[in-house]
This record gives sequence, C-alpha cells and structure tokens, in this order.
Amino acid sequence: MALKEISHHVTRPGRRNDDPEVTIPIATDLVTVPGVPTREDDVNFYSREFPLDSQSVIESAASEWLGPIRRNNSPDSLRQLTYYAKVVAPFAEWVKDCGSQGPTTEASGVDVTELLRHKARELGCGEVGFTFVDKRYIFKSKMNEVRPELTNAMCLAVEQDYEMTQQTPGLASQWTHDDVYERQGFIAQELVGYINSLGYRAQVSGPTIAYGPAMPLFVQAGLGQVGANGIMMSPHFGPWSRLQIIFTDAVVTHDKPIDYGIHAFCQICQVCTNRCPGRALQREKVWYRGAHKNKVTFKRCNPMIARYSDCGVCQKVCPIGAYGMKPVMDHYIETGEVLGKGTHDLEGYELPGKGYYGPGELPRFDRETFEMPRGRSEDWMLMQFRDKLIELKDDPTVDRVQLWKEFREKVEETINRDFLTEMAMDSGGELS
Ligand code: SF4
Ligand code: SF4
Repeated sequence: MALKEISHHVTRPGRRNDDPEVTIPIATDLVTVPGVPTREDDVNFYSREFPLDSQSVIESAASEWLGPIRRNNSPDSLRQLTYYAKVVAPFAEWVKDCGSQGPTTEASGVDVTELLRHKARELGCGEVGFTFVDKRYIFKSKMNEVRPELTNAMCLAVEQDYEMTQQTPGLASQWTHDDVYERQGFIAQELVGYINSLGYRAQVSGPTIAYGPAMPLFVQAGLGQVGANGIMMSPHFGPWSRLQIIFTDAVVTHDKPIDYGIHAFCQICQVCTNRCPGRALQREKVWYRGAHKNKVTFKRCNPMIARYSDCGVCQKVCPIGAYGMKPVMDHYIETGEVLGKGTHDLEGYELPGKGYYGPGELPRFDRETFEMPRGRSEDWMLMQFRDKLIELKDDPTVDRVQLWKEFREKVEETINRDFLTEMAMDSGGELS
C-alpha cells in the first residue's frame, strides 16, 4: 500500500511531439502553491527601487576575474567556450535586430497558441508555454530595447543530451549545453519567421542576448518550479534544459502556474544542498525580492564554475534530472523516500584534478579558492588603482602619470569589450 496520499495529478505533454502524455501524482504533504510563493507588494517594491540587472553587468568584476582562472585551471574549457562564442556570434547579431523584422502577411486575429506550440515542439522544444511579459523581470539596462507592443511571452525549453549531462562536471557536459545554445539559435530563427508569416512580430530573449531572467516567466507559464539548486525543474528534464523566450504580439492564450510539489519536495530531498562542492546552496528558504526560495550564494558558486568546467554538480545529483519527475514522485508516494538518495549512482561525482566524491564526501578548499572580486569591474579597478597608489606613496621613482594611463586603458577595455570576450568570460549559468 502507498505510504502517501495523493493530492492531485499533473498531466503534461510527452517528452517529444509523438510521445504520450505523462501524468504525475503529487503527494498531499508536498502541496504548497502553484508556481512560487510570492509577495506581490515586495516584488513591486524591489523591481521599482532596485531593478534587476544582468549578472554580467552587476558582477562584471567576477566575470573579469573568471577568464584568467579558467585559462589556468581548465584551458580546454576556455577554448571550448571561445569556440562556441564564435559559432553563435552571427546568431547574437541577428537576435539584436529580429524584433524589427516585420510581419510578412496580415494577421487573422485568430488564437494561434496551438499552432505555435506544435511548431515549437516539432523543432525540438520539449516544453512550450505562454504567459505575459512581466516588466518586473526585464533588466534595467535592457528596458529600452524590449519592444513594448510585444506583450506575450512564448517560453521554450530545449533538453540537453542526457548521457553527456551525467558526466558533469567536465567538458562533455559543457559541450552539450553549448550545443543546445547553438540549436536554440536555429529554432528561434525558424519560429520568428513562422510568427512573421502568421502576421505578427517577434523578439528573442536568450540564450546569447537575454533581456531578463527566464525562470519567473517559465514558472508563470506552468513549465516547472524552481528547485533548491536555483534552477527551473521541468517534468521531463529536471534541471537539464536551456531556456529561451520569444516576445510576441501574436494572439495567444496564457498558461497558468502549476504546483508540481517541488517547492516542498526540495526541503525533504536536499541532495544538491548536501553535495555542492562549493557549499553554495542553503537548506532554508528565504524571502528574496518577494519570492520564497533557496538562494544560491554567488561567491561560493562562481569560483567552482570558473575552476571546474561550469561545475553543475547540483544538476548532476538531482534525482528529478537523473530519473524524471514522474518516477521520483511515484517512488515518494510509494515509500516516502527520495529515489536514489544516498547512492553512488546519483550522488557520486568526480571533480577534475581533485578526485571522486561519493555520498557523504565533499572536497575541501582553502579560503583563497573563494577570493573573488565583487561588483562592477570599473569599481574593482578603481579600488585596485587606489591600493597601488597607497602602496607606492613613498616611492619617488614611480611614474604616476603612467599608472593613471594604464588604469584608464583597462577601464576603456571593459567598456569596449566585444561579444566574444564577454561570452568567454561569462559563466553563462542559469543560477540565481
Ligand atoms: S554549480 Fe554552484 S551551486 Fe551548483 S554544485 Fe556547483 S558550486 Fe554548487
Ligand atoms: S537535488 Fe533534490 S533538493 Fe536539489 S533541486 Fe533536485 S529535487 Fe530539489
């Protein structure tokens, strides 16, 4: 007899276009709210007073720092990232301008939700949902670039190769997420052309150029809930999908957020929290910008990403990613336990250059591993310049004009940084 009572079932389309629907049972003790517990007044306050901005803007000092660390610790990883940046550069150029591409016919005004959903799934998107463009989740620095008339958001998730993701952390898993980014470029170009042919406009957000964080809109569109690892957990792929949004004025019906039981399940599971090599994940949820969530500690996570080919241990050890949401929820209802928890199959991982860590074992690092500059790179450089002046203040041989010139050149370099360099430096993570 099953140990847990069932509260409700969630029925989702199959993994691929022709696969049968999947019905996931949700235990009564996992019920919280559809989507994420939210305090709307707080979301409004923070988005008004402290608008969101991209990590590569507000943490650009860490991005600067990350490049040389990658170069020293995993040169192959940096080489791969640089290669990938070159491959997707033409797509990034196209993304910047695709919103101005006009419709090629007159719109009929008929609801095209199912047409678009079918087309996107045909092109390889495993999860497709619709919601409104919530301006509270548009980056401050990008606000003027988003076309205001495109008020609907089409959310698209593409699955990464399963076998390769299971080799995380390492070049194989880094390759598969770069490969998905490349595929998303082609998918977006097809979809924008298709939307234009239906008489509407479309503008692409992510993965190369993103106008805001994708997860809040995906959760709003019912495609998953955010796990304790800070990543959207979708029914088929768990944390192993890459997210992209198309803003459009096409006539569509919005989906609704869903309670998959993840919000409560993560508090019972905690595998990613226990296994994170950087100790960057928190057991307890906090209220952050109006949402109740397990917050990822950036200063503990980014050094791992820099040193270990994007890390991703929190994704590799997630039972929902490894076995799928339905088997995990079935097992929980039958036994009250987390499928795979405590096993080497699920929890074991190898850190390049450090060795293998099984359940209950974690690598140790010295404090220097986590010493990373924070904030904007220009502020960080100014502090470095000031420290240098203090250090050399009694040295009459120092050429202060030359020091000033070097400082200015460094700052100008960051202002004129091209896309390839940005990509090679950025962690590209979905972490929050
Ligand atoms: S990616 Fe970050 S949060 Fe995830 S396991 Fe690695 S260090 Fe921890
Ligand atoms: S490993 Fe467990 S706690 Fe972490 S995200 Fe996956 S289900 Fe949630």
